[in-house]
Amino acid sequence: MITGFTSGGIPGGQLMTTTFVENFPGFPDGVLGPELMDLMKAQAVRWGTKLIESDVVSIDSSVRPFKLSTLEGEIYTNSLIIATGASANRLGIINEDIFWSKGISACAICDGATPQFRDEELGVVGGGDSACEEAVYLTKYGSKVHLVVRSEKLRASAAMIDRVKANEKILIHWNTSVIEAKGNDWLEKIKTIDKENNRREINIKGLFYAIGHTPNTSFLKDQIEVDNKGYILCEGGRPETSIEGIFAAGDVADAEWRQGVTAAGSGCMAALAAERWLSKKNLSELITREQPEPTKSDNSNIYEEEEVTEETFDENSEWQKGSYALRKLYHESKKPILVIFSSPTCGPCHVLKPQLKRVISEMNGEVQGIEIDIDKDQDIAKQAGINGTPTIQLFKDKLLKKQWKGVKQRSEFKEAIENIL
Ligand code: NDP
Repeated sequence: MITGFTSGGIPGGQLMTTTFVENFPGFPDGVLGPELMDLMKAQAVRWGTKLIESDVVSIDSSVRPFKLSTLEGEIYTNSLIIATGASANRLGIINEDIFWSKGISACAICDGATPQFRDEELGVVGGGDSACEEAVYLTKYGSKVHLVVRSEKLRASAAMIDRVKANEKILIHWNTSVIEAKGNDWLEKIKTIDKENNRREINIKGLFYAIGHTPNTSFLKDQIEVDNKGYILCEGGRPETSIEGIFAAGDVADAEWRQGVTAAGSGCMAALAAERWLSKKNLSELITREQPEPTKSDNSNIYEEEEVTEETFDENSEWQKGSYALRKLYHESKKPILVIFSSPTCGPCHVLKPQLKRVISEMNGEVQGIEIDIDKDQDIAKQAGINGTPTIQLFKDKLLKKQWKGVKQRSEFKEAIENIL
């Protein structure tokens, strides 16, 4: 399984940036998106799936086996299932690039807990389920949420619309589009225009986009038939694509249902179809397991980790959580310190944390890692100038040596640490 790394969002896909998934069978109380993806990954690994953390940049479907070009080299495969999902769209307003990550974000769920948004007025653009979900979520942090809708109606589900309308902190601006972002170092206001051409300014410290998605199919170029929006064309309700032996599953071939459960169902269909096709073509290989029943996986996840206190702090520990550990190590440790600022619902943090832990354990005790939950340790996050998660800072002798935002390759962190050792 080639998980994807930097293109098309993050490994794990859109569920990594979702809070509670309420419609996945088997979770009567809902399940956090990143937690569900951790469980799926653990299940795949338990049954022997080899994960390759890389992006496929192009495929050649004219040769057999098919050739996949990844960032790490070429892979040849008799059959292929494409399940690359879809990515969040951007508006392209004036000054978008200037205020990107300085007030403008495509993920309220990841960035909403940022200190700069606390008790401030915030904005969400869009009228679908994502926009409504994010508007409701942001009322947890902001003093007021402006929902900017370009038409006169919301296209979200009835239940979601009810939640928005019942929330006194949400103000809906109908028939309105955002045209410009303004501010100094940080977003301060947006300029809008309505259907009657009335322009106005709304003072907000955060603007969150929830304006739909584009399927992640650019790497396919013209190798497979896609529709005018780029979704892979399959026969109705089936996983076969225009190329024999290549199958599609999930949102990359589905502009309509786009749910975790429907994607998982179509993934199962694609896997069975690929297996049948390989058998029919005499390309399947019988694999005999030494252990027919694989050992149970370790499902421990970030939500279970406790912050260390004066009593539990260990100056030699490779990885600890919380502001107490950070203060102690910042002032007393002679080693480089790698700090990840995360928030409880941040999917990318989920992806990055095990990578950082691996980097640290490979450095044999020469560097120490700390996780700061910006939701719990707001003061520290503010002092450190954090404006989104994950942010990673590398310190040595009380000096900030390097900072990264978002998911990066392990080698980048390793190289930076080795440079200061
Ligand atoms: P949608 O495509 O459903 O909605 C996109 C929204 O953005 C629409 O209201 C659209 O306006 C608006 N929009 C698009 N482009 C622009 C633009 N340039 N300027 C202003 N507004 C714009 O995307 P979602 O991400 O909301 O949902 C995708 C799918 O995922 C849906 O099937 C949804 O049901 C599902 N989902 C379910 C959730 C849940 O059940 N908890 C949560 C999130 C998503 P217009 O209406 O005028 O076209």
